[in-house]
Amino acid sequence: MADVEISGDGSGNSKRRRLLDGAARLHNDDDSPPNCLADLPSGILAHTASFLATPSRVLLLHALNDSDDDVPSSSSAIVGSHHEVLDFGQIEKALAEKLSDQDIQRILLHTDAFNKVKKLLLTNCIKMTGVGLEPLRGSEIIEQIDLSIVEFVGDDRETSISCDHVLPILDSLIEREGPAMKHLQFPKKWRKEVVTESDFHAFLGRYNQMWEGRGRIDCPMCKEQSVLAYDGEEQDIIGPWVYTSEHSEEWNFYGTHNNVCYGCLKYSCGECDDGGSLLHFCYKCERTYCVHCATLNYCSVCEKEYCLDYCKEFYSCDGRPDADFGDYDFKCGQNICEDCVYSEKRECRKCKKSYCSTDCSNRTYDEDEINRCDHCCSFLCYDCDNPLSSSNTLAVADFFNKVLSGRHDIDKLRKCGDCNKAACADCQLKFGKSVENLDCKGCVKMIVSALLEEKEMKKELQGELERKNERLESNSAQIEELKEENCRLKNGIKEVKNAIKGLPM
Ligand SMILES: [Zn+2]
Ligand SMILES: [Zn+2]
Ligand SMILES: [Zn+2]
Ligand SMILES: [Zn+2]
Ligand SMILES: [Zn+2]
Ligand SMILES: [Zn+2]
Ligand SMILES: [Zn+2]
Ligand SMILES: [Zn+2]
Repeated sequence: MADVEISGDGSGNSKRRRLLDGAARLHNDDDSPPNCLADLPSGILAHTASFLATPSRVLLLHALNDSDDDVPSSSSAIVGSHHEVLDFGQIEKALAEKLSDQDIQRILLHTDAFNKVKKLLLTNCIKMTGVGLEPLRGSEIIEQIDLSIVEFVGDDRETSISCDHVLPILDSLIEREGPAMKHLQFPKKWRKEVVTESDFHAFLGRYNQMWEGRGRIDCPMCKEQSVLAYDGEEQDIIGPWVYTSEHSEEWNFYGTHNNVCYGCLKYSCGECDDGGSLLHFCYKCERTYCVHCATLNYCSVCEKEYCLDYCKEFYSCDGRPDADFGDYDFKCGQNICEDCVYSEKRECRKCKKSYCSTDCSNRTYDEDEINRCDHCCSFLCYDCDNPLSSSNTLAVADFFNKVLSGRHDIDKLRKCGDCNKAACADCQLKFGKSVENLDCKGCVKMIVSALLEEKEMKKELQGELERKNERLESNSAQIEELKEENCRLKNGIKEVKNAIKGLPM
């Protein structure tokens, strides 16, 4: 243990080494290092454990002790005592994926979850069936359980969570007078479709009843509206605590909470001015957040909201819709989610800028003119399609540079006169390589003329280049001639000078 100073990656590491070093000396009279972690004194273990998330602390405790009964006096120090939030998303994903019901049961027992845990997030516990949640049965403390296991809708990992095991425990949390339960995030596999005869659907009914049984709850924001409809009153406006039907095929709210923030558990009616803008539903993680707990962006293309960065990346529209009226500085700037930029191909394939609408990318085109390829759907923004009429001086300069250096590729959409379909330069090239596979005669004609035109243009550019070279060559020949002439003249001068020298004075 003499290598205290070797650790080069920051003082934290060497500090920990020193601690372990000290521990070894404390424990072993003969100065030999401890053989395993269990040999370390409990103070050191407790200190080490304080860096870990709660589930890891319990797992560490069990790794140190072979049997459940043999729990040392140091156990509470290792596990700690602040367990209001038990979040399995805080431990390694690979570890959480391996946890069995027995592991989860142990963690709940050791943290005294029944009396302490208010928020339980079972992120990544894909092996858990729900049997392991038994220690929570009847808890009057717990306010929130996230049973969704996977973080996003669309994560198709196989999960073991089962209604048979979980619902009886959840019933015990909502059945008595005055339970604390405010939010349950259900697994997507239970919420995929509404099955009115299912146990899950019946549970949602009981859960809503529990809230209705509390009578009217005023919205804390406006103090006017009820937070939820009870006795069927105002059902259309405010709705129940959790949705028991699909909102629409695309917007599936089934089994999600209506009016409570996933983060802080505050609720609002969702209808008053404050409340209306306060809660936002993310279509990727399918959680509702207040503006204080998460930032959600609205995509102006798909008209959905998503947690910014965490659930989706956003781009802002580069369109300058007022450029034709002389205002080139005004940028549209509307948010577009990553899906809409890529899957809807709203990114110009040449300049890679994103555009929210055809108005923004298409500004001066007539209505029946197009700048999107009907074959691959890629599109070319106005500036790239019309470099010469572009008000973007950089685009114009770039175009001239390319033409002058002979690198100008003809990136122009062409429209077939017969089928009316437009083809981009890439598709034209692709079709040009196998014209025989094209069904439409008009398209064949278009491709052939495009290729000819391109050939013509290349020829022209080539000709221009050759003429330039010829001029250059003739110039250099002229220079050679002049040099020779120069030489001749110089020699003549020399001869004349010599002749002058030879003259009698
Ligand atoms: Zn309100
Ligand atoms: Zn909140
Ligand atoms: Zn989200
Ligand atoms: Zn979108
Ligand atoms: Zn462009
Ligand atoms: Zn725009
Ligand atoms: Zn194309
Ligand atoms: Zn055609």
